[in-house]
Amino acid sequence: MDSFGDSVDGLFFYSKLLAWYRKQDRPLPWRILWNKHRDPWHIWVSEIMLQQTLIKSVMPVYERFLKQFPSPLALAEAPQEDVRLAVRGLGYYRRFDLLHKACRRLQVKKIPLPVSYEGWLELPGIGPYTAAAMASITLGLPHGVVDGNVERVFCRLLDIRTEPNLPALKKRFKKIMDDICQMGSAGDVNQAVMELGQIICTPSSPLCIKCPLKPVCRSFAASSQALAPAAKAKQAPMDVNLQLEIRHTDSFVQLFLRPADAKFLKGTWGFSTSQGHGTEWLPDGKVIGTIKHSITKHRITADVLCRAQNSLEPASDRKPLAFEDVEKNLVSNLDRKAWNLFEQSKKSPVFGAKIKRTAKISESILSQL
Ligand code: SF4
Repeated sequence: MDSFGDSVDGLFFYSKLLAWYRKQDRPLPWRILWNKHRDPWHIWVSEIMLQQTLIKSVMPVYERFLKQFPSPLALAEAPQEDVRLAVRGLGYYRRFDLLHKACRRLQVKKIPLPVSYEGWLELPGIGPYTAAAMASITLGLPHGVVDGNVERVFCRLLDIRTEPNLPALKKRFKKIMDDICQMGSAGDVNQAVMELGQIICTPSSPLCIKCPLKPVCRSFAASSQALAPAAKAKQAPMDVNLQLEIRHTDSFVQLFLRPADAKFLKGTWGFSTSQGHGTEWLPDGKVIGTIKHSITKHRITADVLCRAQNSLEPASDRKPLAFEDVEKNLVSNLDRKAWNLFEQSKKSPVFGAKIKRTAKISESILSQL
């Protein structure tokens, strides 16, 4: 195997890795469904959900999502809001907007699912990684995937002590993976290397004793697992202060549709959001607490304000909801944390008095306008 050079016996790698993977037979729902139905939709959904998201977070959402949207057509016919609600809490919602868009494109053009790597690559939301995963797992085509797990496994096998995601290294690992996939069972090869990285060759304290590649691993031989690869330079998170304002009556709450150009959570329904700090007492509202939340590289500290109102009007970008319906209509964990805070403060004996007081203030301000 050229791409490994003289470093690793490719045939040994291939046979040991596949034997280990098949013995594992990890009962992940998307694998069980694929083995039963051979429906690429089941794999496509899993590949999108697993982007930047842990398996344990995906599990409960995955099966619920497939029940609601059993095919690309079912997803194409659903309103975007239903799609968002079906994946609430997973974050990175744009990937699901793009999945929705891809299904709509297939529906409008009346075309079946792609049958080549290039065909997958043409769909919205599908990059080289997902196209290779779909082509190899569902079509058996020899396209290797390279993710963080694959990079780490190869850096250790070859005892490469630089950062793992340098472009030249990625290219080299891609070539190795493509070559190994050429040997057959490409889908299993891809999943096997990723799984080895997830459960054996983990970032810290790899379980080398259980590793099928131990006899050919240079890091194991050199005891350099902690050095290969070098830690990626971490980008410091950006601190952001937000205000979430919960406008409510005695039994209703106003949700707002965040605009398409919003900095965070664009296109989601949630509480009125603005940047900056809240003040202790507003003319007609109160800060009920502060929540912490992370979105991509942003570390958010959000003051949660509540503002009692006499009535709430619906509009295209706002909808009043009964208290009991609010939680299930919130997509983001940021809004859900704010809602929890509101519900806790609602239990406080002084809350009712405060609502009345702030409502009165609202009224008096309104009467002065
Ligand atoms: S032997 Fe250890 S360091 Fe080498 S690939 Fe296996 S788990 Fe990773």
